[in-house]
Amino acid sequence: MSDIFPVVVGICLDAEAIWVGKAPENKERPVLLSHGAFAIREGLAPLLDVLDEHGVCATFFVPGMIADRYPDAVKLCADRGHEIGSHGYAHLPVHTLTAEQEEHELVAGLDSLARITGQRPTTWRSPSWEFSPRTLDLLLKHGVSVSTNYHDALRPYRHMRDGKPLPLVELPVQWHLADAPYFLYGGQIGRVIRPATDAEQVWTEEFDGLYEAPGAFYHLTLHVQLIGHPGRLRMLRRHLRHVRGRPRVQFMTSRQAASLVP
Ligand SMILES: [Zn+2]
Repeated sequence: MSDIFPVVVGICLDAEAIWVGKAPENKERPVLLSHGAFAIREGLAPLLDVLDEHGVCATFFVPGMIADRYPDAVKLCADRGHEIGSHGYAHLPVHTLTAEQEEHELVAGLDSLARITGQRPTTWRSPSWEFSPRTLDLLLKHGVSVSTNYHDALRPYRHMRDGKPLPLVELPVQWHLADAPYFLYGGQIGRVIRPATDAEQVWTEEFDGLYEAPGAFYHLTLHVQLIGHPGRLRMLRRHLRHVRGRPRVQFMTSRQAASLVP
């Protein structure tokens, strides 16, 4: 991995699932859900164009519920060369579920994407970046080989048990390398929306640092409903131009980056 610097862009296509997963009664709140519908209606097409412009093969994480509702959007992402990763079924936080519910969420999410793309996902992102004490075993049982959830390292690594390597690679993520802390807004969030340049500044500073750290990689987390607005997409274009300017950079999907881990 020393002569290349992997850059992975993981993009959640949550659409309405965030709000429905939080509280089923939100299904009756069309204006609230429209925050998520924006991803399909407006955000996705120009985001895909920005990725194409910069030769980025990303990983899109889609809850099964959203894949069932918008199969054409999932097919579009796959047809444009992106990896489709699973993001649960109903975007339920796994640490709040029973064992049966957690397994059902995982399997239903994988099944739904397999039906639509013809390929069973091997990469999984937990809704809300949480594991339960059972999650690791469930991932192994159902053929997930790449997790993008832990925050504990600058480098991809293999999960271990009792000193022995498991067939599951972690691509660690960081909150400061996600769009949500800058742009996610709502009555209960209690946060001020930041200018896109704030995210750009933090991402660029950290990218430059990681680029110099031996064996490190750069893992950016985006949400279509948050990044897919015109001014933020301009920022993303600038940022990707900066990233591409470094000679060792190689954009890759989560699966490709995980395959580099021995
Ligand atoms: Zn999500």
